[in-house]
Amino acid sequence: MAMGSAVAPSLANLYVDFFEHLSVYNENNIFKQHITMWKRYIDDVLLVWHGDETTLLAFFQWLNGLNLFLKFTLYYNKGRIYFLDLTIVSNPETKTLELRPFHNATDRNSLLRYESLHPKALRDNLPFGQFLRLKRNSSNRDVFLSEATTLSNNLVSRGYPSKIVKKSLKRALNNNREDIPTPTELEYRPKPIPDGTDILVFVSTFNHISNQVVKIVKKHWYILAKAEIPVDTPRCAFKRGRNVKELVIRNDISTKGDAQITITEQWGLPKPKGHAPCGACTCCQFTSRTTEVDIGLPRPWEHKLFSNCNSSNVICAIWCSCPKLYIGKTERKIKVRINEHRSCIRTRNLTAPMVGHFIMRDHSCNDLRWMVPKKIPVTNNRSTDKQTLSREEMRLIFLSRSHLVGLNEQIDWNI
Ligand SMILES: [Zn+2]
Ligand SMILES: [Zn+2]
Repeated sequence: MAMGSAVAPSLANLYVDFFEHLSVYNENNIFKQHITMWKRYIDDVLLVWHGDETTLLAFFQWLNGLNLFLKFTLYYNKGRIYFLDLTIVSNPETKTLELRPFHNATDRNSLLRYESLHPKALRDNLPFGQFLRLKRNSSNRDVFLSEATTLSNNLVSRGYPSKIVKKSLKRALNNNREDIPTPTELEYRPKPIPDGTDILVFVSTFNHISNQVVKIVKKHWYILAKAEIPVDTPRCAFKRGRNVKELVIRNDISTKGDAQITITEQWGLPKPKGHAPCGACTCCQFTSRTTEVDIGLPRPWEHKLFSNCNSSNVICAIWCSCPKLYIGKTERKIKVRINEHRSCIRTRNLTAPMVGHFIMRDHSCNDLRWMVPKKIPVTNNRSTDKQTLSREEMRLIFLSRSHLVGLNEQIDWNI
């Protein structure tokens, strides 16, 4: 008997049905008769193979040919295999499989320190849980005892009182291995609350004085209980506070608005200026990075602000391949407006601007180039913003003469 463990990228997760139901367990699969067991945990598969090495390798090759995006790595051994935190050893005499805990060569003593701010009950019970896990993972008593000695030393060196460690080991030794619950059995299931009972829960963020807060709340609760609507003493629950990692790192970098500005602000860098593609939308390919605004005026000017495909409240300049200029404005994200223009050109919507010219000159919707010549900062007054935007649009049309030589139809002087 050979055992094989195949490792696939996490994509395997998505393909679990694909493999388990369609391919491997398919009745017509010629390899099916050799598979005694197929167990998967995320991207690790434990496979017990009943057959010769050549067939196993053929199966491995077949597995790798199933999907272009899934690559399997095969580790196989007739006597010993490592799977997650287990060493599985085959004993030829008894013809059974023995289990031992597996330790990676890079493993360090990283148990929770006893001085940690975690609740005391958690710290006091951690050694017992660890011993139970060892016991579940070792099918041989001697193996368990030697592993338990190492664990005891590790626990003591992480600050656990030896009294607690000894007591936990004793408790674990008294436990029958067959009765130890598996992690799934140990999953937390809240006790069902009987109908009609109203339980008040006092929730606070856990910190070093939480226990004292609970004591104070319970001690003085009788004052509230004397109120007109008496309430039973609340059940106290804690939510986790922010840890150091969360305090130091912000992993929710916003993609809203001008994404690049948000990132630079978060890192305390100076704000960038100019116009750039956002790098993540369909409009990017029709624009490019610029620091200067050149819409055919005698003197180009430098961008005062930063804009990209996600900017809103902007003036946009669009060129066809002639190139003729069109000046427009939008209060929404510029990429939305650009996509609307392209869609109108594609569907030959003659009521939309530029479309007539694009049809006449046989341009396609991909023949357009765009950029943001001006971004109007948003204020609290929406109607003023709207007016400023329209005035700026008209000013640029007038200056660039795009109503005469470009694609704008006329100037609305009434704004
Ligand atoms: Zn973009
Ligand atoms: Zn044109």
